[in-house]
Parts: sequence; C-alpha cells; structure tokens
Amino acid sequence: MPTLLTPLVAVKVASIYNRAPLPARMAKAAPDMAAALDKVVEDLRSLGHDLRLSDMFRSYEMQWQAHQDFAAKKKKAYSPPPGGSMHEGGRAIDIDLSSIGVSLKQFWEIAQARGFMPIIDKPEPSRSEAWHFDCRGSHQAVYDYVRKGKAGAAMPPYTQMAASAIASIGVQLDAVHDQNIAYLQSSLIRLGFDPGRIDGVLGARTQGALKDAGIDGDDPAGKLSALLEKKFPLEF
Ligand SMILES: [Zn+2]
Repeated sequence: MPTLLTPLVAVKVASIYNRAPLPARMAKAAPDMAAALDKVVEDLRSLGHDLRLSDMFRSYEMQWQAHQDFAAKKKKAYSPPPGGSMHEGGRAIDIDLSSIGVSLKQFWEIAQARGFMPIIDKPEPSRSEAWHFDCRGSHQAVYDYVRKGKAGAAMPPYTQMAASAIASIGVQLDAVHDQNIAYLQSSLIRLGFDPGRIDGVLGARTQGALKDAGIDGDDPAGKLSALLEKKFPLEF
C-alpha cells in the first residue's frame, strides 16, 4: 500500500436509525467531506432542521453485500458491485429527504455551496437516488479527464472517478491490475498529468506522466501524496 493516503475521519451525524448517530462503521469520510457535511448540518440547523443520514461510508464488504441484496431484489435502490461507488471512497452521503425541512431544490443550493453534488440532474424528490450526494473533491479532475476522452471512450467518467476516490484511501479495487499503480495514476490525473486510464498498469503513458511530474526513484506514491497534500490540503 502507498505510504500516505487520504485518511478517513470519524464523523458524528444523526441517522435515520432511531435518530441515533450514524453507526461508526458507516460514519467515516474524507476530511474535506467531513468538514463540508458539518457546514451543511449547521446551515440546516440555522433554519431549524436536523439532517439525518441513512448511509455514508461503505467498506468493500458492505458494498458487496448491498450489491448482492440489490441483485436478489432484497433492496430496491441500485447498488453497483465494489469499485464503482463514491460511498466506498468516503465521499458520498445518502440523506433522509424527510429530514431536510426545505425543498429539495433549496437543499441542492445549500449542499452545492458546501461542495456536495447531487447524482441526479433535477431536484425531484420522487426520483431514485434523489437522496444521494457526492463530495467529489480533487477526484472531479478524474471525471473531467475521462469525459474529455483521455481514458478511452468505453470508460464511464463516474466509475473512474469512484475508482480514483477508492484507490486514494487504499481500499481494494478489483478492476485494476496493481493497486499501487492505480494510486499513482489517480494522483497524476488529479495533479494535472496525463497517465491514461486508471487501470493499474505501468505502461509507457503512465511512465511518461511520472517523468512529467518529476517523480523518480523510491516511493513514487509518497512523493505524489506530498504533492497532492500541497495542492489539496483540505483532503489530508
Ligand atoms: Zn448513495
């Protein structure tokens, strides 16, 4: 595993589960998302409302189970197999829509101002995934990179962005050849270099991007992490 990864921090937030705090195994987030969520909770509280969540972080095993439950029709909401959800990167929340107290449209404005992005394109509470919000952070750069066609046409931008977020916290990614190389690729894209898709293969293009970034010798992951921390201090 790379030496320095995006840490996950414990978050204290109300849940739908008997209004108790969200269980600790789920209540973990990348530091910038944890801070953004605090602000959203404060914003709503100032309007007299208490935000409750139903989901946040999912471990590999939890994502696997959610996908199995969906496939077996035990769970209605779509859950991708491990490797494709921002929940696995500690960068997504599912909110209790009945707890926001304001219209979904108004909540979008509050959430977006703090760095959260809805996953659907119109604030319609009846739509599936109306409850899901991502804090993309620097992984937005991966989304944009793939969207520009830099990772091949067949690669969905959202999936590569999620892979980047997951690799950056050191969680297993089944779709890549070598997890450490995937971390280098994710880092390089976020730093503005051009390693190609996040596939965990150290090909000529990834090697060229490492060279462009001035990375050589030992511990390329540690060196890239140091650059990331400099560029995105809130994420560390
Ligand atoms: Zn979700």
